[in-house]
Order: sequence, then structure tokens, then C-alpha cells
Amino acid sequence: MPRINPERVLSDLRTLATFGAYKTGVHRPTLSGEDIAAREWFANRMREAGLDASIDGIANILGKSPAIGRKALSGSHLESQNYAGWLDGPLGCVYALEAARAISEDPAISDLGVDVVVFCDEEGHFGSFLGSRSFIGVLEEREIDAASNHTTKVPMREALAAAGWAGRPRHVIDPARYAAFFEAHIEQGDTLESTGLKIGVVTAIVAIWQYRFTVEGEQNHAGTTSMKRRRDAGLELVRLLGAIDTRFPEICGPRTVWTTGRIALDPGEKSIIPGEAEALFQLRDADPAVLDRLEAEIHALVQGANRNGRCKIAVERLSASTPALMDRSLQAALDRAAEAHAPGKHMRMPSGAGHDAQWLARKLPAAMMFVPSIGGISHHWTENTSNEDIVLGAQVFADGIVNALRA
Ligand SMILES: [Zn+2]
Repeated sequence: MPRINPERVLSDLRTLATFGAYKTGVHRPTLSGEDIAAREWFANRMREAGLDASIDGIANILGKSPAIGRKALSGSHLESQNYAGWLDGPLGCVYALEAARAISEDPAISDLGVDVVVFCDEEGHFGSFLGSRSFIGVLEEREIDAASNHTTKVPMREALAAAGWAGRPRHVIDPARYAAFFEAHIEQGDTLESTGLKIGVVTAIVAIWQYRFTVEGEQNHAGTTSMKRRRDAGLELVRLLGAIDTRFPEICGPRTVWTTGRIALDPGEKSIIPGEAEALFQLRDADPAVLDRLEAEIHALVQGANRNGRCKIAVERLSASTPALMDRSLQAALDRAAEAHAPGKHMRMPSGAGHDAQWLARKLPAAMMFVPSIGGISHHWTENTSNEDIVLGAQVFADGIVNALRA
């Protein structure tokens, strides 16, 4: 089996963390100067590993292996959220590169190959999964034309031109070239840490269903309108959200999460009873049957509130994605690798966060592997994973790829 080089893994990750270093994390938004430099550096690291690497017209990097045998595709993203962590993204890129290197260095398996891919803008500074969607061939030019940085407002075309990559053809996946896609990532939650486990083998990337609740009441004077006759849209909305929160635990799945991301009251003044209220509400689960059940319950609770309350509540579904199921035999390949290096210290789990793998799963059998996040923290500069866990994960990941390619 391949032997990964722990110092090489840690030093590559430490070097990447110098591009846009911020406290103990990084600030490296997509196509910022630091991000461009990190991509150039990583493409060169790929070349040093013997991969034929190039950066394309949307800043994706593809490093192709010269191996003659079965190949896997593996990678993640390099940009960060604003003022965020050093491992979200880079861990999966460096693990992929280390798997490619370790496999090519082992004469017993050097016929196998790993192509390394780095997707642009997984973190959504310009759009939604622009890099991975481009790579699977479902991103149209006009979406790039329309994309601009949400923070700086700089158009994506301008940012690509500044990097010197505008007008380059975009890499598009050749599914026939690969047996599988593998992405490693930090867990970004505390399931592994809180159970003392080291490796998470992902079963599915959750679906996200989003809703808008709109409540119509009556705007009126906060002092002169009696409690008996007022129609307070804000209060009615909060009651509904409370009822959802009471009822859902009785019917949800073991890992369902729900979030009210925004509540807005109109007019939103101290001395005015809100005449209108609105909330954005989101559900996440890997099982569509669970989501169906929860959605039916939302409608039942809204109907009940409309029957018994003084306001009129409407619910609108804004979006509903499908879960991305990870390939079962690839999960088994990762399980075996984890059992070899961390016996009894691995588990199957869904991913509550979105990842590039959810798009790649449309073209290839796909797999994801998680390592623990200290304190379950991510999207913050304190995000971290112990060196020991980083090294263990890199070894399990490389073995998992070999298990899959040899199967
Ligand atoms: Zn990420």
C-alpha cells in the first residue's frame, strides 16, 4: 500500500496557509491576489509531482497523471471564506496530491493514477459551485458573465482577466478516464470529536429545502390597540416557528437540522404592531422521505395557525435540492482503509454541508472522507485539526483510493 509522507503533507498545508494568512487562519477569497498566488503555487507542486497541470478559464486546476492503469480523480477547493480557516478546502487538495505522489512512488502500484483537481469558488464568493459545475459541463458562459464578487462587486470576468486566465478553455471532465471521484474535507462539525473517532466516511451530502413564511396581520398603534383585538404578525410568526421546533423532534431523522436564518418585521418599529412578518426557513437531511414528512408537517402547522390565529400565514417553497448519494463500494473502500489504520475509530455519516463532490457525483461514483474539526469549528479563523489527525487522514485517504482502484 502507498506510504504517505507526513512532513510533506503538513508542510504543503502550512505553506498554503501563508497565502492570505489571517491570525491562525486565512483570508483568501476567490481570485484575490492571495488566491491567485496559491493556485499558481499549487499547480507547480502538482508539476513537481509529475502531474501535467494547468489552470483553466474559470481558475480550476487539473493535474493529469501519466499513469497507464486505472485512475481516480480527487480534489477540493483552495479559496477560503472571508477571514476563515486554513483547512477548509486545502486539506482535500493536499490529500489528493499526496495520494497521487505516494501511489506513484510505490512501484507495486505505480500503474494506478490520481488526477488532482482544484475547483474554483466552492465557497461561493461569485456564485454557486461555479468551478465544479463548470468541470462537469453544466455552467454556461452567461452565468460567468453575470457573476460578480458579493463583497467587492468586481465582475468575475475582470478578476479572471487580472489573473491572466480569461479566455482560456475550461477543463471538462472525461468520465471514461476515471473509476471514481474522492474528496477529503474537515468535518466542520463535532460528531467525530465528541465520539472520539478519527475518520468519517460520508454516506450522502444532504439535500437543502428552503421556505419563506409570510404573515399578514394589521399594523397598528402599540399603545392604544388592546391585546384582545390586535393582529400581531410578528408574534404569530414566532408562534409558528416555536410550534415547528416543538413538533419536529418527534418526526425528524436522527441528523435533521432546521434553521430560521432571517426574521423580518414590517415596519419594525418600537411602538408599532408589525403588520407583516417574514422568515426564511431551511431544512437539511439526506433522506427525501424525512424532508417530505417535515414539509407536510409545516403545511399542517400553517393550516392550524390560520384556523386558530388572527393573522394569515402563507408558506412558499423557495428551493429543494436532492441529496447526493456517495457510492457504496467506495464507502467500503474507505471503511477498509480506516479500519487498517484506525481500527474501530471510524464511522459512516452524512455531510450536513455542501461540497464539490455533490456535483461530481452526477458524473462519477463519488466518495467523501472527513477528519475531525477541533471544537467542531469551521468558517472561522480558529478552525483547526491536530497534526496527528491530519497525517492519519492522509494515509487512510490514499489507501482508500488504492482499495477502490484495485477492486
Ligand atoms: Zn470546503
